[in-house]
Amino acid sequence: MQEKLDQLKAILAEVYDLSSAAALLGWDQQTYMPSAGAEGRGHQIATLEKIAHNKFTSDQVGQLIEDLVADLKQLDPDSDDACLIKVSDREYKKQTRVTSEWVENFARETTIAHQVWEKARSENNFAGFQPNLERIFELRREYSAFFVPYEHVYDPILDDFEPGLKTADVQEIFKTLRPQQVELIKAISEKPQVDDSFLRGEFDDRKQWDFGVSVITAFGYDWNRGRQDRAAHPFTESNGRDDVRITTRIYPDELTAGMFSSMHEAGHALYELGVDHALARSPLASGASLALHESQSRMYENLLGRSMPFWEFYYPRLQDTFPAQLGNVSLEDFYRGINKVEPSLIRVEADEATYNLHVMLRLELEIALMERSLEVKDLPEAWNAKMEQFLGVTPPNDADGVLQDVHWSSGLIGYFSTYALGNLISLQLWELIQQDIPNLPDQVRKGQFGELLEWLRRKVHRHGAKYEPQDLIMRITGSKIDPVPYMRYLNNKYSQIYEL
Ligand code: ZN
Repeated sequence: MQEKLDQLKAILAEVYDLSSAAALLGWDQQTYMPSAGAEGRGHQIATLEKIAHNKFTSDQVGQLIEDLVADLKQLDPDSDDACLIKVSDREYKKQTRVTSEWVENFARETTIAHQVWEKARSENNFAGFQPNLERIFELRREYSAFFVPYEHVYDPILDDFEPGLKTADVQEIFKTLRPQQVELIKAISEKPQVDDSFLRGEFDDRKQWDFGVSVITAFGYDWNRGRQDRAAHPFTESNGRDDVRITTRIYPDELTAGMFSSMHEAGHALYELGVDHALARSPLASGASLALHESQSRMYENLLGRSMPFWEFYYPRLQDTFPAQLGNVSLEDFYRGINKVEPSLIRVEADEATYNLHVMLRLELEIALMERSLEVKDLPEAWNAKMEQFLGVTPPNDADGVLQDVHWSSGLIGYFSTYALGNLISLQLWELIQQDIPNLPDQVRKGQFGELLEWLRRKVHRHGAKYEPQDLIMRITGSKIDPVPYMRYLNNKYSQIYEL
């Protein structure tokens, strides 16, 4: 058995290397590549992904997995090796259903579409992007067709991001959540509004950058194993266990976007950097799922970054950085300002109370597009109608509406719900952390985040992708994805801020 296991691991390591190289080309594309390089880059990424796909889906790998699965009972089911075999088996069965021709087409189409989207967004021209988006949804429907029979056409693509989760599960969770969030927003809107005007003005780019760096350094981000660059849509890229990069975007006339984006991406990076080194160069060497990932980024961005204890430490430092802008703003006013609830157009800038509604809107539209009950040409209109229905605001143009997110241009359909699920998981973990580290608020008031990171590494990070997301959450918290702790958190926090 050991010999076969070693053979499988050697091949999986090469597959991992090829995928990492493709990911690094993707990072370059979104940071430094000249825009005319898009087509060539599309070919490069497609070629690498094709080689990786062919290598992984070979008959040799199939035979090795089959033999190893037959011997699985010799292993402790929670051991790294047993999990590697199970995850490889699952992934092999998925990937062998998909043709390498599809993989290649998809990589090429999405790389080109990404550049087209950037142009369409800057020119506020949905029609320019429409043919590309039509092809992407067509390719996604072709992808689902590889997995017939399914309960729902959306299931196979959701499963890529949240292994084991079904469309019906997500719809069920959101059905509980949506009315409660709408009710909370309504109660808030009936109260006097919070002043956050001091967050806009002139904020030196370099000082913003440096402040963000000081915060994420304190969080524990290791600059020997990472770096930060700028991107239109911030993201984290893992190129192996010791090279996990983040990106941010800073506005010279607004204080919060850059700061919170750095904290958010650092949360993702800490997760990747915390995966057990024994899992390196294998399919287990990453987070368990996007929702788990988002639980980490949102924890750093929101549960820490928008909390009072955090700012008791950092606000005097921020005031020193921007004395003219913040010198006369009290800590309490600042805290209320960064937690202001206001239905708005842009998801990435949405507050905690309205955020999930942006996600539910996208989920419903994606499901409709996959089902073909909605056509891509009618998408801007449908988007605007749902914005009005969910949030009571209508985008003045498509750049601030349907064209705002990078995801669809990259072929990432089925992704958005993971953001909201991540919010829910972050609170399930947070409630447990409060029990295990009762003096955490005091540590945070001193700018100390080490014990928190140690807890996350031990309970979440080190396991990598050994367990399916629902299984991992069950192992840690004793329950499945549950919206109750999140609603409890929102209600407590905003009752206090808005005196509900
Ligand atoms: Zn994120």
